[in-house]
Amino acid sequence: MAAVDEYAQEIKALARNIGEHPELGFQEYKAAKWLGSALQDAGFEVSYGTAGMETAFHAQLGEGSPKIALLCEYDALPELGHACGHNLIGAASVGAALALAKCITEITGTLVVLGAPAEETGGGKVKLVEAGVFQTIDAAMMFHPSAVNLLRSSSNALDAYEFVFKGKAAHAAAAPEEGVNALDGVIQLFNGINALRQHLKDDVRIHGIISEGGTAPNVVPERAVARFYFRAASRAYLDEVRERILQAARGAALMTGTAVEWRQFELSNDNLISNSALARAFGANLELLGVTDVQEYEATGGSSDMGNVSHVVPAIHPYLSVGEKLVSHTPEFAQACLSPQGLEVAVVAAKALALTAYDLFTDEGLLREAKAEHSQALA
Ligand SMILES: [Zn+2]
Repeated sequence: MAAVDEYAQEIKALARNIGEHPELGFQEYKAAKWLGSALQDAGFEVSYGTAGMETAFHAQLGEGSPKIALLCEYDALPELGHACGHNLIGAASVGAALALAKCITEITGTLVVLGAPAEETGGGKVKLVEAGVFQTIDAAMMFHPSAVNLLRSSSNALDAYEFVFKGKAAHAAAAPEEGVNALDGVIQLFNGINALRQHLKDDVRIHGIISEGGTAPNVVPERAVARFYFRAASRAYLDEVRERILQAARGAALMTGTAVEWRQFELSNDNLISNSALARAFGANLELLGVTDVQEYEATGGSSDMGNVSHVVPAIHPYLSVGEKLVSHTPEFAQACLSPQGLEVAVVAAKALALTAYDLFTDEGLLREAKAEHSQALA
C-alpha cells in the first residue's frame, strides 16, 4: 500500500493525461506509449504490437509461476471522451504493477501487464485471447469505474451482425412494379425480430439500427443495411437466439423477394464468468483499504471483451464508484473520471489490485481455489 502511495502522483498523472487526450479504439498511440513507458522505467520488459494490434502492449517482470496478468484499457468514446473511465483502468493496473515491481524480488512468480486496446467496439481482448496470450497465464484482473462498488457482475455475451438486403432499383411512382424493395427486407427483419422477442428469455437484448435505407423516396431502394447487437446472459443461449434471428432474416428476404447476406461487423464477446474466489480476495482488500458499501453481485446489461478472457483463465472485473447515480457513456461520467475524486479512485483501485495480485503470488491455496471454480464454471 505504501508502494502504491509512492506512485500516487504518477498514477493520477497517467489517468489525467489519458483522460485529457481521448483516443478511439486502435488509435490509442499516446495512451499505450505512456503506460508502456512507465512500466519500462520500472524495469518491465515491454513490447508493443501484441496480437497484431499496434496499440496493444505486453509487459513482464519476474519469473516462474504463477503468472498473474493485470489488464489495461485506455480507449475513449466518439465525442464523449473518456465517458467509460478507461483512463482510470489503464492507470490503476499500471500503478499496481509499479508497486508490485518493488517487492517482486521477495516473491516467486511473473507479473504481466497487458495493454488491451479498443474495448468499446474493437474487442482488443478477443484478439489477445485468440493469439494465445492467456495460455500461460494463471489469473487475470482489472477494475472498472462505475456508480457503485461491486465485486462481481454479469456481462452479456454479444454478437454484432450486419444484414445487407439487395433488391432492384426502379422509379418508385412511374414503374414500381419493376422494383424489388431492399428496405422492405430490412423492415420485415425488424418485424420478425420483434415477433421473436416474446418467446425469448428475459436476459436477451436485441437492438439495431438501419444504417442504409435508400437514397431518395422516388427510387425503390436497391440496397438496405441494418446493424444489430444481440446479447444474452450465456454464450450457449445466445448461439440459439442468433440462429432464430438468422432464420427471421431468411424469411424477410423470402417475403420481399430480396437477397440477404450477413457478416459480423465486430468481434463477439462472451459472457463474463466472475471468479468468486478472486472477487472475495479483492473484497477483503477493499475492506482493508476502508472502502465500505461494497455490493457482492449484480446483473448488468452490458458486455465486455473481458468475458472472453474469463472463459480462458479465472478473472475478475470489479467496479469502484466514481460518484453516486452516475451513468457511464455520459458527459457527466467523463467529468467524474477526470475529477480529483475520480483520479483518487485509480489509486485505491491500484492498491486493491496490487494486494490481490500479491495474495495470488503468496497464497497457493487461493489460486488453486480460483482455478477449481473456473474449471467447474466452464464445465
Ligand atoms: Zn468500459
